[in-house]
Amino acid sequence: MRDVIIIGSGPAGLTAAIYGARADMKPLVLEGPQPGGQLTTTTDVENFPGFPDGIMGPEMMDVFRKQAQRFGADTEYGMVTRVDFTKWPFEVEVDEDRVELAKTIVITTGASAKYLGLENEQKLIGHGVSACATCDGFFFRDKELAVVGGGDSAMEEANFLTKFASKVTLIHRRDSFRASKIMQQRALSNPKVEVIWNTQVVDVYTETGEEVTGLQLQDTQNGELRDFPVDGLFLAIGHRPNTTPFEGQLDLDESGYILVDGTKTSVPGVFAGGDVADTVYRQAITAAGMGCAAMLDAERWLAEKEAH
Ligand code: NAP
Repeated sequence: MRDVIIIGSGPAGLTAAIYGARADMKPLVLEGPQPGGQLTTTTDVENFPGFPDGIMGPEMMDVFRKQAQRFGADTEYGMVTRVDFTKWPFEVEVDEDRVELAKTIVITTGASAKYLGLENEQKLIGHGVSACATCDGFFFRDKELAVVGGGDSAMEEANFLTKFASKVTLIHRRDSFRASKIMQQRALSNPKVEVIWNTQVVDVYTETGEEVTGLQLQDTQNGELRDFPVDGLFLAIGHRPNTTPFEGQLDLDESGYILVDGTKTSVPGVFAGGDVADTVYRQAITAAGMGCAAMLDAERWLAEKEAH
């Protein structure tokens, strides 16, 4: 039995692991389907203090992981398929085939990219539809691409894709972006980036039966439809929290985020931090801070429980 299991391995999980390991709790980190989390799908991280020249997202998560391992954290590739928080010690089922027991739990499972929900979109994932520019941009050298969204992610992805693509069209459903000014400026001043405002993607299709060849767009003001030939579609429309195994076990809000008081969930001894419990800030640095706080709370909770 472990003192603590950390579920998730982004900045929140690995910061929790550093603190847990240094408190001699010998944490087990279950890394989930994407070890290192969302930062492993980004390029330069320029706003995390301590890296004055910036650092690549995947490299940053490697550094975090090494730091946690140096103090004795165990990191394991594994997907949590079920939990039972009604029992103590808590039960965590991994990959549907083994159960780990822990006295406290820190949940840092983050969030995953959203898709538009179009029928063809799912069929064409890996054939021109993607939600990760850094993963798939490389395959689109000299191609024309569309990016959907108006937030920081859309700006970042559009800019990044111009490294490969001949042209990138940002398609946004309103007439203004919600992205920060600096990110907007970078995208709008890029000569390879164009913007189509007030427009939704209502279909993505292939004429070759293999790769994306175009989109059907709808004007959100007058409803007019039009065809838009393009070689790839990148989604940057936000994320949903990764809380499926916790449904029915913890109180969640209507979007599925874990409801927390500080880092305390509705079950004493189970703590949460980072994007899975944060609808407001959602930054690497805030996630890391919440991961630290969650582990400090877990450590104190356990010390108190064991003192009685
Ligand atoms: P976001 O800020 O929630 O933006 C999502 C965008 O997608 C919005 O513009 C939204 O349109 C649009 N959208 C949502 N659902 C849609 C749909 N069904 N069809 C069409 N468009 C849709 O998400 P994000 O850009 O991923 O950013 C999330 C957080 O991470 C933010 O806090 C952001 O600051 C941060 N972030 C920071 C950086 C950085 O600083 N380097 C980089 C990336 C992300 P509406 O505007 O009309 O709602």
